[in-house]
Amino acid sequence: MIQTKKQGNLIIISGTTCAGKGTIIKKVLENHNDIVLSISYTSRPPRGGEKDGVDYYFVSQEEFEEKIKNDDFLEYAKVRYGNYFGTPKSEIIKQLDTGKDVILEIDVQGAKQIKEKFPDTILIFIMAPSMEEVKRRIKARGLENNEQIIDRFKTAYKEINEINKYNYIVVNDDLLEAVNKVESILTSEKCRVDRIEALSVENQEEIIHEFLMEKEFDNSGITIE
Ligand code: 5GP
Repeated sequence: MIQTKKQGNLIIISGTTCAGKGTIIKKVLENHNDIVLSISYTSRPPRGGEKDGVDYYFVSQEEFEEKIKNDDFLEYAKVRYGNYFGTPKSEIIKQLDTGKDVILEIDVQGAKQIKEKFPDTILIFIMAPSMEEVKRRIKARGLENNEQIIDRFKTAYKEINEINKYNYIVVNDDLLEAVNKVESILTSEKCRVDRIEALSVENQEEIIHEFLMEKEFDNSGITIE
């Protein structure tokens, strides 16, 4: 009777550094096999333990620029320390067409570009409970030098100023609760009335009439208008 759009939803998850986006997304993916994560291309070198084709597709700056020329990206931006990051186009369109929801874990600049091209995109911003906590988590990671840590911290503030471009905010002070909130958002979005493609109302009168004529139904005193 109701036919909803076959196409999956496009979902962007951005957030302040060290807000736990990656962990939240991992949990959501474990719980839902109809949701996939897009793997971005980047010109930044892999960090310890990162794998090509799993965390990112790692390419040189020249290879990235070649892909820009070939129009291979839905969006791209220079994110940190002049490194390119970009969302591959063809794979995502394919996944959406098969009905899968696709999550993009991208920054605010990329989110803006995608929203302009695909206004139905769902934008979720994940926040750490406080900037004090961000500071603590950055230091605890111990991955980068001072200059890079300060850059991350400044970027976090810049990104927070863009929050009004997003549809939802999830504060991650309790991981399970944050995962639950993201899952609830995705479930609600699937139930939106504007996802209905066809609502069959044919033969309404005939069906009502047949129902009223059923023997076991007490139809005395009911008239059909
Ligand atoms: P890193 O992996 O270096 O810790 O952080 C990468 C930053 O770039 C994160 O803020 C992440 O959200 C963002 N990012 C990752 N992939 C993409 C992408 O394809 N496009 C854009 N615009 N940002 C991305």
